[in-house]
Amino acid sequence: SATCIENILAGLNPAQLKAVQHDPAIPLQILAGPGSGKTKVLTARIARLIITHEISPSSICAVTFTNKAANEMRDRLTKLIGKRRTAELKMGTFHSVCVRYLRMYAAAVNLDSNFTICDADDSKKLLSALMKPYAEYMANNDITLSEGTVSSFISKSKAKGQTAALFFKEVEHDEGRSSKVSKTETAQEEKKSIQRIIAEVYIGYEQVLKANNALDFDDLLVYGVKLFSTHTESVLWCKHILVDEFQDTNTMQYELMKAIGYRRCVTIVGDPDQSIYGWRSAEVINLSRMRNDFRNTVQVFLEQNYRSTASILRACLAVVSEDKKRIPKSLHTNHPLGATPFVGTFETEKEEASFVASEIKRCVANMGGVLKWGDFVVLLRFNALSRPIESALQKQGIPCRILGGHKFFERMEVKDILAYLQLVDNPSFNPAFIRAIKVPSRGMGEKSLSELAIRAQELKISQLELVERIHDNKASDIKPPIKKKITSFVKSIRCMRRLDQEKIPPSDLIRKLLDMIQYEDHLRKTQQDWDSRWENVQELITFANEIEADALKSRPPFDELAPEQQSERQVLYCSMLRDFLQASTLSSEGDNDSEDQAQEKVTLSTCHAAKGLEWPVVMVPSVDQETFPFYRTEDIDEERRLLYVAFTRAKSLLYVLMAEKRVVAGKTKSKRLSNFVASVRGKDESLFSCDVPRFLPEDRAVVSKVLDRCLPEDDEINRRLNELESDGSYVQPTFQTRTGEMVTVSLQGVRSKIQKVPNDSAE
Ligand code: ATP
Ligand code: MG
Repeated sequence: SATCIENILAGLNPAQLKAVQHDPAIPLQILAGPGSGKTKVLTARIARLIITHEISPSSICAVTFTNKAANEMRDRLTKLIGKRRTAELKMGTFHSVCVRYLRMYAAAVNLDSNFTICDADDSKKLLSALMKPYAEYMANNDITLSEGTVSSFISKSKAKGQTAALFFKEVEHDEGRSSKVSKTETAQEEKKSIQRIIAEVYIGYEQVLKANNALDFDDLLVYGVKLFSTHTESVLWCKHILVDEFQDTNTMQYELMKAIGYRRCVTIVGDPDQSIYGWRSAEVINLSRMRNDFRNTVQVFLEQNYRSTASILRACLAVVSEDKKRIPKSLHTNHPLGATPFVGTFETEKEEASFVASEIKRCVANMGGVLKWGDFVVLLRFNALSRPIESALQKQGIPCRILGGHKFFERMEVKDILAYLQLVDNPSFNPAFIRAIKVPSRGMGEKSLSELAIRAQELKISQLELVERIHDNKASDIKPPIKKKITSFVKSIRCMRRLDQEKIPPSDLIRKLLDMIQYEDHLRKTQQDWDSRWENVQELITFANEIEADALKSRPPFDELAPEQQSERQVLYCSMLRDFLQASTLSSEGDNDSEDQAQEKVTLSTCHAAKGLEWPVVMVPSVDQETFPFYRTEDIDEERRLLYVAFTRAKSLLYVLMAEKRVVAGKTKSKRLSNFVASVRGKDESLFSCDVPRFLPEDRAVVSKVLDRCLPEDDEINRRLNELESDGSYVQPTFQTRTGEMVTVSLQGVRSKIQKVPNDSAE
């Protein structure tokens, strides 16, 4: 393995080497700008811990920000240390790491191990039911409060460790104080404040989750912290934790890192300039918190950017330097200048979108095979901006995929099917019951349903259990018509339960279910676009197949597990159905497109979801003064950093676009270029260009150099020209042209003549 470690260290610069070889037992912070190899170093460090320090992969926990980033790291590590050892690593987002441990040690934190993970949509439904009783009161008292507001409040509270009970106490305390102060306003005293309502709903929400044996996303972290910090003695805990994109951790995630890394073997990488999740309670201050909590933390700074051309890097740094509160840091590159980032203004968003499509086509055609569809990304400030781009791409026959904000698992038909499966996995999850019982319609009105809900609550059983009792004639007080309506439902559930116990894979389970409830028929009868919805259902089966294949692949052979990994063994045996459900609920965090598919397609993504990733060509539309900064933002600097994150994804070409007129909710609005770009361009005009890149042979050479790809058709000629250039044996010939001029032909000139320049339709 000596040669192996050499491979891993080869090509790293001195600062990167220092970080990779840093003592495993001394906490380490790697702070550096985009493209400086932070993630690369983190990956190499994991490999070195395993190879040189012989640390067991199963005791290393590597945390990434998205599932997609975890997959990339897994691929890189597979190449470095092989598939088996990579599979043993505890790798994923904070959420997925927590889920994994919580399933194993659920009892230690008073959970059932078959808890269901409630997604944002489920949570909102629960909240909206809980808020119903307040509707009249709020209307009478002129209080407006949406589930959205309450849900984000609860999420923020959980992210900073504020429980429902704590918040309730705080509100009571405040009320106590204010009623003393304003004795005169007696009417006011009777009033429930917004705070009070939120506090009550929060408490109700926690109770409902508990009763449903469900956790929301934030709970995963809350319970994770509870588990790790109260059971520090367990031998199975990780001994090393490494966290990527640390600048975007929130308090709970920081606590989690601290708890997991209690033996001080902590490595984090981050870049304060790229902190873009303040709106979701991320706190850059965690960087200094860490230096306080881990006193001997060593810092390493990386200063060379390996990702972008020099002119892209220059423009990016100019943009981010406008933040006067920022701590300046140096970042340079050895890459050639390349094409100046392009700023393009279009009249309408339609023209902007069609430029995106035709420009992508032009690049692919004129780069002589260097660029493929998969090399392009269109980065958007928010998802809704994708619609015109999507249709322009479609019109021009360019395949595309959507990264992040991938709404697949939030689609009605997908959720319908998942609801049934969730019920099989966790019978007490009422939201799934409420969904499934209505698919297909069984003639159960809202009234009968709420009757059932109330009765189930009285009996302290789940709604599913109640209908099962009714079906079995064990609940005599319920009216007979209901019984008839639920017969087929109970039969279907029981049939699936049996199949699951027989270890039928989820894909077959879905097929059987579709058959039993005649789902295609149901869609046909109820949905206009039933055929595309049916496609999504088929896609769900494909997804289940992939999960099944992965599950079989990534599990280490059972007999090789050490005896102390007994509980892990149980989890491995645990039903594939749960793997599948978990993957589908957690996938809203990232993307499930397999890599080969991604190769062939242009990517559409939000700027947030693109963090940590890179593409040869980046296009950012709608860089106007209302979108960047987003007009509803509370933090302008965070918006600037977001644009910086977007721009710094580019390796070779960067397009900054905007439309002067944009239709927003039926009204045409005029726009001007974002100040983030306009102000730096005002200071230095050369940073951005108004001309589209030309793609002369020199440009192609730069692009292929930065991408480390050769021009396919020119391999042999290039080799020969390089030889001539390097041994100095090329003699510049001089010719007389027909007009009598004398010209000498430089090597550069020869290159440009020899390289086939395809027709450039746009020029
Ligand atoms: P970000 O802040 O955007 O997440 P990062 O600091 O994590 O960026 P990486 O993604 O690790 O940067 O690296 C950026 C690119 O530079 C990658 O393509 C990586 O392979 C390349 N790279 C990093 N270090 C080197 C090196 N020493 N030699 C060659 N290429 C390198
Ligand atoms: Mg990175």
